[in-house]
Amino acid sequence: WLQFPSMARGNSTEASLQKDDSAPDLKDGKGYKGHDMLAPFTAGYQTTDLHPLVIEKSEGCYVYDTNGKKYLDALAGLWCTALGGNESRLVAAATAQLNTLPFYHSFWNRTTKPSLDLAKELLETFTARKMAKVFFTNSGSEANDTQVKLVWYYNNALGRPNKKKFIARAKSYHGSTLIAASLSGLPALHQKFDLPAPFVLHTDCPHYWRFHLPCETEEEFSTRLANNLENLILKEGPETIAAFIAEPVMGAGGVIPPPATYFEKIQAVVKKYDILFIADEVICAFGRLGTMYGCDKYNIKPDLVSIAKALSSAYMPIGAILVSPEISEVIHSQSSELGSFSHGFTYSGHPVSCAVAIEALKIYKERNIVEQVKKISPKFQDGVKAYSNSPIIGEIRGTGLILGTEFADKKSPNDPFPPRWGIGAYFGAECEKRGMLVRVAGDNIMMSPPFIITPEEVDELISIYGKALKATEERVM
Ligand code: PLP
Repeated sequence: WLQFPSMARGNSTEASLQKDDSAPDLKDGKGYKGHDMLAPFTAGYQTTDLHPLVIEKSEGCYVYDTNGKKYLDALAGLWCTALGGNESRLVAAATAQLNTLPFYHSFWNRTTKPSLDLAKELLETFTARKMAKVFFTNSGSEANDTQVKLVWYYNNALGRPNKKKFIARAKSYHGSTLIAASLSGLPALHQKFDLPAPFVLHTDCPHYWRFHLPCETEEEFSTRLANNLENLILKEGPETIAAFIAEPVMGAGGVIPPPATYFEKIQAVVKKYDILFIADEVICAFGRLGTMYGCDKYNIKPDLVSIAKALSSAYMPIGAILVSPEISEVIHSQSSELGSFSHGFTYSGHPVSCAVAIEALKIYKERNIVEQVKKISPKFQDGVKAYSNSPIIGEIRGTGLILGTEFADKKSPNDPFPPRWGIGAYFGAECEKRGMLVRVAGDNIMMSPPFIITPEEVDELISIYGKALKATEERVM
């Protein structure tokens, strides 16, 4: 109202409150056409020629736009609002902490109780192997950037100045800061940004459907990928390779669960050449896969772990790294010698974020969220995968509460639809029209609903998916 003086309440006749046709209608988001944000992962034309979808409110698994239209949030924000949109206990935890101590830092051995308590709690939640220390960041990208610095610091301390290269995988996503984007194996993140940085190498994407040879089993495919990794290490020189980083299930690259025996074989190679294993659990941790961590599901014994997103159910920004005893011991000695571990962020261990994360972990435990995800997942997985025989779907893949759909002609990975047809975008728009938000990346569709999704909401998700698919089929066939 403040922006439209002609409609100000001061002129308060019924008529003056009528909509002024010449004025932009803020209520349906149209007032924001040509908005002022350089918006993340958004094209320039979208911020000038199109109206953004303006989300105003959230409630459980739903979000509402400025028109009051309700959407099932099938991606949980960005794979992160694990407890949905209005968990009052998280709000209360934040409020209580804001009222007590809205901020204090963790530099120079000063810190706060929530950060100490959260670190302790996190070390208890991770049981795939023993971890010794936690370093707090504000995001998954900062966590992965920090991983690289930690590993370099560690190898310098051990007198291995040449052991500095990182191996990540094609199609991986590790974030968008300079180093995290370099680790990511998605060309769009590198294009025109002068990335990746030269110390990053990429090995195969473990996508069986897309990359297996004729007659090759999943196990044989995994063996071939492990051999390729070993050959890359040998070509570069094992003494130059510091670490390997992987998401237990690839997320933004299209939801790609590992093929059978993959991590067992990859870990054996990495171990053979004294290369550290970093598990990027930013999407997988805290129950997404039906286990507390992806490492539990795939028997991964990492040296370092990155977490974020569901750590606070996204109510406050926070990420963290879990560090093995061997690495933290070396960092401890090195920093004692130098007089400081000179790395950290103003908001590392922000007390409000930590208080919210402590409460989120408490809720996960009390509500047995991992079991809840395990119980609801088959309905979600089977219900959506029942559409696998659609003539325009190449593959539907996933596990737990994460699913990817890939559209393809003739059901073949070698026959993509022409990008200008915009099949994925069309399907996404059909979902949106029917009140559901999914992630679209080319002809890949991704979904990762909140952990609290109910059987009725899963039914709704499957029903909207089916209707959007039918509309897309009609458009294509
Ligand atoms: N790692 C993975 C696996 C992710 O999926 C993401 C974000 O989607 C990140 C890292 C980056 O996290 P953030 O966006 O919090 O920087």
